[in-house]
Amino acid sequence: MSDIVAAQSSPARLRYGGVPVPFTVAWTGEERTFIAICPHARKPAICQEIAPGSGKPTFGAPHFVRQRQAIIDGLCDICGLSLRNRTKVSLSHAKLRANGADGAAILQVEPLLHKECAALSLRHCPSLKRDIRNGTLFVRQVTKERVQVAVSDPSFIHVYVPGFNAKPSDRILAHAKVELLSWRDRNEEWLQP
Ligand SMILES: [Zn+2]
Repeated sequence: MSDIVAAQSSPARLRYGGVPVPFTVAWTGEERTFIAICPHARKPAICQEIAPGSGKPTFGAPHFVRQRQAIIDGLCDICGLSLRNRTKVSLSHAKLRANGADGAAILQVEPLLHKECAALSLRHCPSLKRDIRNGTLFVRQVTKERVQVAVSDPSFIHVYVPGFNAKPSDRILAHAKVELLSWRDRNEEWLQP
């Protein structure tokens, strides 16, 4: 648990087969997982080898460290650059929960996006294209949010880190979440420049 994962420096915009690969996507060359102090959450967490661009991208499987980095540091899910003072967009399917500490909120594991990066995702991501066809696309302009990093259930850690037997007292972090506190419902047209 004493290893410290080097913080990743400026994000590279990677492509695979001509398709832009989101910043937080894990690559097959990054499969090794372990428990270490996360440089972004600064607590013991499920960590993962950091070698974006090696092997193939595993779309749909976020990299543990980059997922936390994006949410905690307020970076875009797609390009990995800061969302500070920019229009922030959620394309998550996460549903409104009425039981948030401060009233209704949406808790999502997908980091937020720049508006232009959300538009780019719609052009390339098969599951978002399916949402457009089925009328199940959610576009939200997020005006207030906060970060939550939950402690994972120790009995689940071995699913992500094979061979690691967590003690019941271990407080190991997994994914970070964005809690949307206020937003405006938008649509696909709004995303287009
Ligand atoms: Zn972006």
